[in-house]
Amino acid sequence: MVCSAVFFSWGGFVQKKIVVTGGAGFIGSNLVNTLCRDGYAVVALDNLVSGRRDRLDDRVRFIKADVREPGALVGAFEGADAVFHLAALPRVQLSIADPVGTAAVNVFGTINALVAAQVARVRRFVFASSSSVYGNPPVLPTPETTELNPLSPYANHKKLGESSCGTWSDIYGLETVCLRFFNVYGPGFDPSGQYALVIGKFIMQRLAGTPLTIWGDGQQARDFTHVSDVVNACARAINAKLPGKANIINIGAGNPTKVAYLAELIGGPVVHEPARTGEPRNSFAAIRRAAELLDWKPLVSIETGIRMLKQDMGLCG
Ligand code: NAD
Repeated sequence: MVCSAVFFSWGGFVQKKIVVTGGAGFIGSNLVNTLCRDGYAVVALDNLVSGRRDRLDDRVRFIKADVREPGALVGAFEGADAVFHLAALPRVQLSIADPVGTAAVNVFGTINALVAAQVARVRRFVFASSSSVYGNPPVLPTPETTELNPLSPYANHKKLGESSCGTWSDIYGLETVCLRFFNVYGPGFDPSGQYALVIGKFIMQRLAGTPLTIWGDGQQARDFTHVSDVVNACARAINAKLPGKANIINIGAGNPTKVAYLAELIGGPVVHEPARTGEPRNSFAAIRRAAELLDWKPLVSIETGIRMLKQDMGLCG
């Protein structure tokens, strides 16, 4: 247990309460289970549209609620030291197909969560932002100071979420931290479905014995980041001493992998389809700020991460 998970009051040691919206999702469930093991009193809030309650440690308190309905949030956030806001519909292609429905969750859900955090007097609000806010960045590796150029409604939703966090810090004094996650993968991710991300798609195709579909020439690169590294960064963001009230920090492996190389690691024949719109050519995080502010660095290489994932999924070779 990390000592920062408890504090002393006249009644004895008290666990700090942490709330994670989207806590039954892929990253959320990995995060709540880790925080629980670290000794925090953890609440996972999720509407279960894609999350699964059976992923959660028995000690996690689960609240079924929707971030589009503000009434449910203040009570859940009451007494929390920090809130992680992960609830979202995090799919680029879905946001192109349904920009309004996804904005209701990704934009207004975020504003509802900020209001609830402010009303409940939460100390720190951590927002799951995304590398997609950069679009096709002019600089690689991409530092946080790079001009934002979202290429899809989803990326724009994240940009609006970040600027809302800034507003809540400026006007209401809420401490906010926007963590820009870069292409997260690992245990608990959803490999199936129309909107699955590339690693999941490749794994499902390999399991089905069909060729791996590469959109475009495969030379596009993604900074695939293992979920254990992301969770470690989140845990550090709870108590890190940060400059000012509003901070934005890249969380990525800092090591771009070409999609064609990823297909080699997963194994099997490939087919090429035309490149899709709304998706950037390359992503590559500059991670110096995370090292300086969170004392964090990624530990899992893509080769190790994919080997572990293939073992978990019953794939060998
Ligand atoms: P996920 O889809 O597994 O998790 C999202 C969770 O939010 C799900 O459990 C879902 O049930 C819940 N949810 C959706 N709508 C909700 C609503 N209206 N009310 C309450 N809960 C709701 O996705 P993930 O990959 O774990 O992503 C978590 C966060 O990290 C998201 O905000 C996403 O945008 C961000 N992010 C993820 C990645 C990645 O590569 N996975 C990269 C960048 C940013």
